[in-house]
Amino acid sequence: MEVLPFLSRHRGIYLRYTLLGLIIVLSFASFQLFFVLGDHQPRHFIIPVLLGTFIGILLSTLVALRYEIAERKRAFRAVADLAQEFIYVRNLDGSYEYVSPSCLAVTGYSQEEYYARPHLMDELIVEDDQPLWRQHVHRMHEHGVPERLLIRIRTLQGELRWLEHVCSDVRDVQGRILGVRSTNLDVTDRILREQQLSVAAIAFETHEAILITDADNRIMRANKAFTEITGYEASEVIGKTPSILKSGKHDQAFYEKMWATLGREGRWEGELLDRRKSGDIYPKHLTITAVKDEQGKVSNYVGIFSDITAHKQAEAEIHRLAFYDTLTSLPNRRLLVDRLQQAMVTSKRNDGYGAVLFIDLDNFKELNDTQGHDVGDQLLIEVANRLLACVRTGDTVARLGGDEFVVMLASLFDTDLDVVPRAESVASKVLAALHMPYLLNGQPYHGTASIGVTLFHGNEKSVDELLKHSDMALYQAKNSGRATLRFFDPSMQQALEARARLRMDMRVALRERQFKLYFQPQVDAEGDCIGAEVLLRWQHPERGLLQPKEFIPYAEEAGLIGDIDFMVLEEACMHLRAWQGDEYLQQIPLAVNISAAAFMRDDFVDDVLAIINRCGVDSALVKLELTETSLVDRVDESIGKISRLKSAGVRFSLDDFGTGFSSLAYLRQLPISQLKIDRAFVRNVVTERSDAVIAKTIVGMAHNLGLEVVAEGVETKEQLEVLVSFGCRIFQGYLFSRPLSLVEFESRR
Ligand code: C2E
Ligand code: CA
Ligand code: CA
Repeated sequence: MEVLPFLSRHRGIYLRYTLLGLIIVLSFASFQLFFVLGDHQPRHFIIPVLLGTFIGILLSTLVALRYEIAERKRAFRAVADLAQEFIYVRNLDGSYEYVSPSCLAVTGYSQEEYYARPHLMDELIVEDDQPLWRQHVHRMHEHGVPERLLIRIRTLQGELRWLEHVCSDVRDVQGRILGVRSTNLDVTDRILREQQLSVAAIAFETHEAILITDADNRIMRANKAFTEITGYEASEVIGKTPSILKSGKHDQAFYEKMWATLGREGRWEGELLDRRKSGDIYPKHLTITAVKDEQGKVSNYVGIFSDITAHKQAEAEIHRLAFYDTLTSLPNRRLLVDRLQQAMVTSKRNDGYGAVLFIDLDNFKELNDTQGHDVGDQLLIEVANRLLACVRTGDTVARLGGDEFVVMLASLFDTDLDVVPRAESVASKVLAALHMPYLLNGQPYHGTASIGVTLFHGNEKSVDELLKHSDMALYQAKNSGRATLRFFDPSMQQALEARARLRMDMRVALRERQFKLYFQPQVDAEGDCIGAEVLLRWQHPERGLLQPKEFIPYAEEAGLIGDIDFMVLEEACMHLRAWQGDEYLQQIPLAVNISAAAFMRDDFVDDVLAIINRCGVDSALVKLELTETSLVDRVDESIGKISRLKSAGVRFSLDDFGTGFSSLAYLRQLPISQLKIDRAFVRNVVTERSDAVIAKTIVGMAHNLGLEVVAEGVETKEQLEVLVSFGCRIFQGYLFSRPLSLVEFESRR
């Protein structure tokens, strides 16, 4: 309970005004005295003095009081006007005694409006806070205790502001309420800040790890998610730098770039690998933001990151689902198209060829319908495995869906001559692999497949066209009775068919003796014939005389070359036999070419001896030409075979010498009697120094080992002269004679 301060506190001031009153009284008395001088009655003197004194005191007190009140009010206003809080004083009827300027500034209303509207302040309190406000006013009047209240007002401009309001009532000495005074502090900014802080505090504890460092990159704070992800407690890392999290998987340049970006843009975002406390390395997505103070200097770095291990796994899984077939794990159509596009670009760049094999299982639907999808799936998985076994790295096996598969042979081939046989051979291999019996659910199953093949050269065709063409070829394959392959490209298909026919014809040729032996003389330095090499020709009924390169490779492919070689050997022996008694011909040995396939046969030695014996010829007249490829695989076995025949009198010649892997050490072990320098060296012996050196070395080496040397493919006198100068003594080539028919050879003397 308080009384207005300026009435109670400063009594001393009264004395000053009382003294002033007395002075007035004394002057009044002196004035009276002036009149008294004419009267001399004491009564007339005392009464006016007393009266004058009384009036003087009364007047001076009243004046002092008025002055004092005005002075106090002025002082109060002077202070209140400057106060940050806005202050108002109200009378009991609610009318405003005083409203401070800051009150006007905050609420937006003018002084006049306050004075005109006694309850203006109550009206400003927002609707929701009205009950609170009324309770507060009630309590204050009831208990008379000043009370603090946080209340919201709506300003004239409609803005919402928070006030920290304190008020107390003003009472007289008897405790009667005279009015209310109140101070109000606008705390809106503080409240908002507090709200932001609590939002920030909540945000800090999110599922993303947050790391706050100072400008020197020393860790100041870390949240719970940080501990969960990294395994480090905040207390373990505070004061350290985030480099304790490094995995060592990124080089210095990576971090330098990160800091450069941070310095330049104030922010870095990316993925990186870090290490947990446990030592595990994990992928994270990290954002670092540089926080700057008012001067623009970096005060902190805030790093926010999340563990993206699961995300990465999901990404990989999505990738797998998007690009791979779930059943077989083979690339799907999407990935195939992608790889085809790449292969075509590479093929264009390298001017190479590639092939697409479109494969479809025959009767798959039947299997699926009768045995169920499980069994069908088993077959598809097995087919996928078999296809993979048929191709090389760089090729692609894809499943387009259902029982459709595609094999892409990447562009690795220089010419269509290479790619056609390779595509055909892979396709044949695929067919053979897919035609092998399957075991499905313990039951044997025999399935076949059809293949359509198309080639690509650069990207002249689109991927769609390519797949369409191979599909069309597949259709052709299906139409022609299934279990077969077809080329889309008409010329390829013709070539394919021609080769297939050739293989068939070759069997007939063997039976019907269409193969003809030609004889190419081998001569000594004087040009006298000292032997001949037997070279095969095929007198084809429709295609005329075919050279070895037109049929030998296919005879090899068809597995007929061994039979052909023995046929040639037998016929050669028959000629030797026939020449017996002819003075010139009977002393001419014949050299027969023997392929690896023939030489590798287990019965090779016996079969050769059987032929020689059957024909009753001198084995010394039989020479067998082998190439190194026949020998290198099984050297010991080869040595054994050659030795046995050698001891029976048969001689061996090593053909095409110099092109293979010949090492001196292994040559020495071979019981052969002759080397034939490959045509390739002879061709350039005059022009290429290196070829001359090789030829010379071979001759020298052969002589050291006690071997004869034959130079084949001698076409010019110059070549002959050089070879003679190297010490070569036996020659074969167009310079002396082309391969001759039997009649020509026999009549040549
Ligand atoms: P090869 O054994 O190296 O036969 C020598 C080849 O060189 C023959 O080709 C022959 O005609 C050719 N030739 C000879 N002198 C010259 C010359 O001065 N210049 C040129 N440019 N070439 C010359 P051909 O008859 O076409 O035979 C090619 C290949 O076919 C033979 O190479 C041989 O590997 C194989 N061949 C031929 N007949 C048979 C055979 O009965 N059985 C086996 N397995 N392979 C055979
Ligand atoms: Ca030969
Ligand atoms: Ca040769």
